[in-house]
Amino acid sequence: MMHHSLDCCDSNRGADKLFNNYQKNNELVYNLMINNPDKLIEILWTQESPFCIDTNCRCLMGEGDRRSSFSCSQCKNISKLKDFRKSELIFKIQCGINNGKTMIILPCDILKLFICYDLNKSITFHNLKMNQDMKFICSDPFTNRTLMMCAINKIFKDKKLPHILNFYTAFICGDKGYTILENPSIGSLDNLHKISEYHTKPENMCSPFLTKITKTIITQLVVTLNELSYINFSHGSPSIESLAFGSEHISYKYEGINIFGDITLKIVNLWKSSATFSNIRYFADDIKSELHLECNMLIPNIETVNINNCTYYKIGHNNINTLIAMKNLGMPILLASFDLYCFLVSLMCDQSFYMSVMKDNELHILWNSLWLNDDLICIEKLICDNHFLDIQINNFQTTMNMISNFWLNSDAIKHLLLLIKKK
Ligand SMILES: [Zn+2]
Repeated sequence: MMHHSLDCCDSNRGADKLFNNYQKNNELVYNLMINNPDKLIEILWTQESPFCIDTNCRCLMGEGDRRSSFSCSQCKNISKLKDFRKSELIFKIQCGINNGKTMIILPCDILKLFICYDLNKSITFHNLKMNQDMKFICSDPFTNRTLMMCAINKIFKDKKLPHILNFYTAFICGDKGYTILENPSIGSLDNLHKISEYHTKPENMCSPFLTKITKTIITQLVVTLNELSYINFSHGSPSIESLAFGSEHISYKYEGINIFGDITLKIVNLWKSSATFSNIRYFADDIKSELHLECNMLIPNIETVNINNCTYYKIGHNNINTLIAMKNLGMPILLASFDLYCFLVSLMCDQSFYMSVMKDNELHILWNSLWLNDDLICIEKLICDNHFLDIQINNFQTTMNMISNFWLNSDAIKHLLLLIKKK
């Protein structure tokens, strides 16, 4: 069969060797992020890069001249794994250790490819009297997402956490960037709704999710965000649009808690995410946020209050856009707990998820414990109002608006992790 002829590509004898090389290069990139960012900046997207780049390729992933002798090495490699005559992005591996796995190749238009230190940000940061030694590395969204995928894949793999899509490689061919990822076996929350066995009434896809499904989604979300909090991760657009699901059953131990479930949650859509590695903050350039901050260079005054040894903060409607702009530009503010609230409120905007939480005592306690008494009634009213809209809106902007006037627990993740552990 055709796939056995992979060895015609000089450096990649066979699919296994190809995927091994991908993994080695990804680990190299992560090592550079941690140990030698100067070198990373110097070589990324040059001929020395661990990722392939060929802006003159004629094959263009099958969209150009498929038989051209001026094909880039990735076009040569991928053409052995995927039939270029078919336009669909999903393909199945039919040989080697990845035999049977379904992967997706995602194209993305590249306007400008870059990575550099952002010295201005360091100065602003010093003026804010925050961490004095922190450096900032800014890149385009494609590069930023690629770096985040490399790093988080490695961190999660080492801890055997299955909550990020397997990242195989990224490369530039022609004027497009491509990413090869594991294709999640279920996909979005909408797809989860199409699976009758996850619902309390199999004949009704609007009925509540089974308690075990909702419970495992919340637990896996808390584990994921807790692990990501160790690198001061900020997602950038936390809502159900940034969650994907797989049908793989999971069972593992995390910080003394047994985690199990019939489905796997994956965090996706890392274009705007930022994180800190070796005191260097990696983030993506965002022109809209730059412009916003230039016009509104005010430091938002976030109210905080201390209740039962917990710090609660309230963002306030007026501060939303400035805060989001600051977050998008890499400022390590409002990190994990903010993401948790956004993801959870967004999930609660799904009626099946909401009803499932409300009718289970344990889940109800978890949810209630995140809010101060008066706020609980108000946020639930907002969520229920949303349920009655013709089209349920649960994107990031909506959820952020919803939570901005309530007190949020800055230790929400640790707090939920503790409650889950006690059960
Ligand atoms: Zn190519």
